[in-house]
Amino acid sequence: YPPERIRNFSIIAHVDHGKSTLADRLLELTGTIKRGHGQPQYLDKLQVERERGITVKAQTATMFHKYNLQGSSLDGSNEPQPFLLNLIDTPGHVDFSYEVSRSLAACQGALLVVDAAQGVQAQTVANFYLAFESNLTIIPVINKIDQPTADPDRIKDQLKSMFDLEPSDCLLTSAKTGQGLEHVLPAVIERIPPPPGEGSGLLRMLLLDSYYDEYKGVICHVAVVDGMLRKGDKISAAATGQTYDVLDVGFMHPELTQTGVLLTGQVGYVVTGMRSTKEARIGDTLFHAKTIVKPLPGFKAARHMVFSGLFPADGSDFEALNHAIERLTCNDASVSVTKESSTALGLGFRCGFLGLLHMDVFISDLNKEYGTHIISTVPTVPYIFEYSDGSKVEVQNPAALPSNSKQRVTASWEPTVLATIIIPILDSIDHVWCSQRAFMKYRLPLREIVVDFYNELKSITSGYASFDYEDSEYQQADLVKLDILLNGQAVDAMATIVHSLKAQRMGRELVDKLKKFIDRQMFEIIIQAAIGSKVVARETISAMRKNVLAKCYGGDITRKRKLLEKQKEGKKRMKRVGSVDIPQEAFHQLLKVS
Ligand code: GDP
Ligand code: MG
Repeated sequence: YPPERIRNFSIIAHVDHGKSTLADRLLELTGTIKRGHGQPQYLDKLQVERERGITVKAQTATMFHKYNLQGSSLDGSNEPQPFLLNLIDTPGHVDFSYEVSRSLAACQGALLVVDAAQGVQAQTVANFYLAFESNLTIIPVINKIDQPTADPDRIKDQLKSMFDLEPSDCLLTSAKTGQGLEHVLPAVIERIPPPPGEGSGLLRMLLLDSYYDEYKGVICHVAVVDGMLRKGDKISAAATGQTYDVLDVGFMHPELTQTGVLLTGQVGYVVTGMRSTKEARIGDTLFHAKTIVKPLPGFKAARHMVFSGLFPADGSDFEALNHAIERLTCNDASVSVTKESSTALGLGFRCGFLGLLHMDVFISDLNKEYGTHIISTVPTVPYIFEYSDGSKVEVQNPAALPSNSKQRVTASWEPTVLATIIIPILDSIDHVWCSQRAFMKYRLPLREIVVDFYNELKSITSGYASFDYEDSEYQQADLVKLDILLNGQAVDAMATIVHSLKAQRMGRELVDKLKKFIDRQMFEIIIQAAIGSKVVARETISAMRKNVLAKCYGGDITRKRKLLEKQKEGKKRMKRVGSVDIPQEAFHQLLKVS
C-alpha cells in the first residue's frame, strides 16, 4: 500500500452522538469484524468505558476496502483499488485532550459526528477546534437520522453558522439502521488526502498510545510518519533517550496481525522490550537508533490537574493497595503516584490525574478490579504559593501547607479553565417546540468544576446543558488553608485550600456534614473548622449512653444478629482518627461541599 492508497482518519463526537456505533459499523462493513458478532462496540474495550458510554482509552483499527477512485489505479484500468484505512480512535473526553490532539496529529481527516436531534454540543465544539487546529479535512456526519425528532436541516444550518461547514458536504446517517452508511467510506477516500511523509527518508514514528499485555509486555500504537520500520530494527525514543529492539510489528486488524514491517503513512503496533508503559510517552517520536532526526512537533509531558490522597480503609491493606496501583498504572502511565503519609490515615498515595473523569475512572477501577476498600481525600487542584523569601511552590496536597503559614505567604495562584456551556432555550410557538441554543464561554477556577459542577449543571438544566473545558492560565487568588479538628486534633486528610472569602461558609458546611455522618460515640466529640488558630465553625456530638442491643429487649435473636452484623460491616468502613471513629462515608461526603 503506497501512501496514495492509505487514509488515516478519526471519528470525533460529543458523548453519545454515536461515535462508537459508527466505528463498529465501519469495521463490519469492511469485514474487519463480523456483523453482530462478539462484543458490541469493539472500540470501547474497557469495562468502565462501556458502563459510562464513553471512550477512555484510544483504540485503533486498520481496515481494508476496495474502491474505484478516479485516477488511483496504477495500470490505468477501471477496477476498484484496495485501500488501507486506519481508523485512529480518540478518547472521548476533555481530560484527555492532549491525547486527542496526538491522535489527530497522525490523521489527515476526521468524521465529525453530530446527533441529528441534539445538534452541536460542548464537546462537538471542543473536538471541532482540535481537528481544525490540526489542519484536518473535516467530514460532517449527521447521525441518528432515524429518530423521530431528527432535524438534519436545522443541524446543517448550525454547522454552517458555527463552523462554516457546507450543508452539501454533510453526510446523513443512521448507525442504527444502516441508512446512509454506504457514503461514509467513499467520502473518506475521496475527500481526505493521503498521508504526507518521506517514504525514502529516515524513520520517524509518532507514539499514539500504549498498553500492557501479560504475554507480550508493552504494546505501542504508532503512526509511521517517514521511512519504514522492520522487525529486528533498533529504535530510540526521543523523550526518554532509551533504545529498544523491535520484537514484533504489525497492524491492528483489530486484533494484532504481524506484518513484520510498517511503511510510511501506516499505523500499527510495535512490541519492544519496554518494561512499563511509563517509558512509552504519548506524543513521543521513535526513530532508528543512531540516526539523527528532528522530533515530531507537539510533545508534552502529562500535566496533572487534580490530586487526591488514596489510603487503604484498613491500614494493613497498604501492600495490597500498593500492588493494585502498580498494576493499574502499568496501563495508564498518565497517573502520577507518590507515597504519602498522613497522621490521620496512615500510609497511602498521592495520585495526580489529568482531570476529574480520569480520577473517577482510576478510583473506580481500583475499587472494582482489586476489591480494595479505599478512602480518597477531597480532590485538590495544584495551587501555587509564594513565600516572603521569594520562593514559589506548587501545592498538590493541602496538608503540606503549614497551618499558620498565612503570614509567610505573600501571594497565591490557582489554575483556571475555559469552560464551554451550551444550553437550549426553549419556547413554544403554536404548539411547535423550537429550540435555540445559548452558547456560553466562561473562565472559571478549576477548583469550581472539580467539585460536582457537572452534576449540578446537568440537574438544574434537566440534563439539557452540555459542558466542556480546556486548561487555561493561573490567576491570582487569596487562598487559605482550612483545617478540620476533631477534639482539638487537626485531621490532615480533611484539610482543604479555599478562597479566604468562602472559608467561613465552607467551614460551616464541612462541620455540619461531619456532624451528620459521624455517629455518637462513648464520649463527646467536638468538630471544628479553623483557619490557622481562628476557629470559624464548631459543632458538638454528645456522648452515647445506650448499647445498640439494648433496643432489642432481648426478644428476636435474628434481629439481634442482624444488628451485630451491621455494626461489624460498619466497622470495616470506619477509620479511627485519634480516638474518633469516622465512617468512610464522611470522607466521601466532604467531596460534595463547595
Ligand atoms: P458515543 O458515545 O459517541 O460513542 O456513542 P455510542 O456509539 O455509544 O452511541 C450512544 C447511543 O446512541 C447508543 O445507545 C447507540 O445505540 C445509540 N445510537 C448510535 N447511533 C444511532 C443511530 O443512528 N440512531 C439511533 N436511534 N441511535 C443510535
Ligand atoms: Mg463511545
